[in-house]
Amino acid sequence: MTLWRRYTKIVELNVFGNTVPVVREIAYWRDRLFANMIIYLLPLSLLAYVPGMIMCYVSNEPYIALFDTIVFLLLIFIAFSRGLSLRTRKLLFVGNMYLLAFTLLYFMGLFGPGLMYLLACVIIVSLVYPAPKAYYAVAVNFLTCLFFAVAIYFEWTRFLMPEMVSVGAWMGVCANELLLSIIFAGAIQLLTNGLQQTISREENLLNQQRNEGYELRKMVAELKMKNEELEQFAYIASHDLQEPLNTISGLVEVLKIEERNPEKKDFSRGLNYISSSAERLRMLIRGLLDYSRLGASLHLREINCAKLIRSVLKDLEALIKGSGAEVHIDRSVYAMPSITACPLNLNQLFQNLISNALKFRKPGVTPKICIGVTDTEDAWHFSIEDNGIGIDSSQQEKIFVIFKRAHGSRMFEGTGIGLAFCKKIVELHGGRIWVSSVPMEGSTFHFLISKSLGPVMDPAGSPSEEEIQETAATQGEQPSEIQTLH
Ligand code: ADP
Repeated sequence: MTLWRRYTKIVELNVFGNTVPVVREIAYWRDRLFANMIIYLLPLSLLAYVPGMIMCYVSNEPYIALFDTIVFLLLIFIAFSRGLSLRTRKLLFVGNMYLLAFTLLYFMGLFGPGLMYLLACVIIVSLVYPAPKAYYAVAVNFLTCLFFAVAIYFEWTRFLMPEMVSVGAWMGVCANELLLSIIFAGAIQLLTNGLQQTISREENLLNQQRNEGYELRKMVAELKMKNEELEQFAYIASHDLQEPLNTISGLVEVLKIEERNPEKKDFSRGLNYISSSAERLRMLIRGLLDYSRLGASLHLREINCAKLIRSVLKDLEALIKGSGAEVHIDRSVYAMPSITACPLNLNQLFQNLISNALKFRKPGVTPKICIGVTDTEDAWHFSIEDNGIGIDSSQQEKIFVIFKRAHGSRMFEGTGIGLAFCKKIVELHGGRIWVSSVPMEGSTFHFLISKSLGPVMDPAGSPSEEEIQETAATQGEQPSEIQTLH
């Protein structure tokens, strides 16, 4: 048993090589059938070879013995030789079968199994080759029959009893053989075509199921994201937006009390406080609205990142010059190919991160910012490194939540929306964002942009600049001079 298993393994390895078979293809089953034919034919031929040789010796047929040996050796060669392509093996195999058929027809004619072997050739070709190769085999059979008819007529062959074989009788038997050949070729083709259709239909159904599953998972992920956002909104509404509101109502109460005091007539300080709290409330609400609208429509385009970053730096020129910062774009950014992303969103992302790196700089130290990228298997990994004040490890996750800040608003003004925007933009691009930082040494913001975002809109379907402006306007963005959200 183990010998048989080893034998089949060797033949299979020789026939298929190291290629991974696509089982859901009729072509695979043709090759599989071919391998099995060799596997079973070889021991059966060995069994038939010995009595065949004895018969040849008894009936004094050295030529049949010679051709039998050639056919048998060729079969061994087809099964065990290494480095032969499957195509060559198949061709040799069919040629070998025809050689056997010719030998038997030539030496034994009507009384030998030659015609049966001709029919077998058509069946084998129909099984191991796609249509219409089987009809070529039928044509070869037809020519073979014709050739032997001529051979009988001119008495070229060594048929055992030539006086018994007339051309008419030969043609009669051949006609039946050819008819059977055509029937088999047609029937097998019909069968394999039907099987292929069934396999393809099944494959399509499977793909459809897979796509539906993918869509469903995507929808669930989106729903989860929306749900988290809703939770955040509820939290924000009850905490962050309450804070300036409380200040306003508290101040109004104070003003009411002070109004009753006849000596106190100047309320301008209190009113100023109320007005700045109201302004802050307005900014927070506007930021919240912009945040909720972000990503309503993602216009994907091919983007040259080096070009985009240079244009962001141009927008931030005044800030960069004012702080004396040194901004370095790494060679990796220039070397990377164009990526698919939403240019507006990516602009905003870089602008927020770079302006943060400028804003949270160490006093008295020249800000140094380095922007780089690495190619991971399925995403682009961007990094923006600075030598600023850094972020405490306990704050490094929180700062991506809307309105959350790691440093006091007295020292650095801002609303705490920028990084929440960045997080949402990155997630809309199939990636994630995180920070690694050492307080008072600097921070590096990392983010991934997926390489497998949807196809870029074709020129006819892509949005015009006006459309982008319009979208930006509805999202509270300014495409020509994109704002930084701080
Ligand atoms: P904002 O800048 O308006 O405060 P962000 O959402 O952009 O809002 O940032 C949230 C917080 O993350 C900031 O308040 C700051 O504490 C911290 N932060 C962001 N970027 C940096 C940086 N490059 N270095 C140090 N701290 C940073």
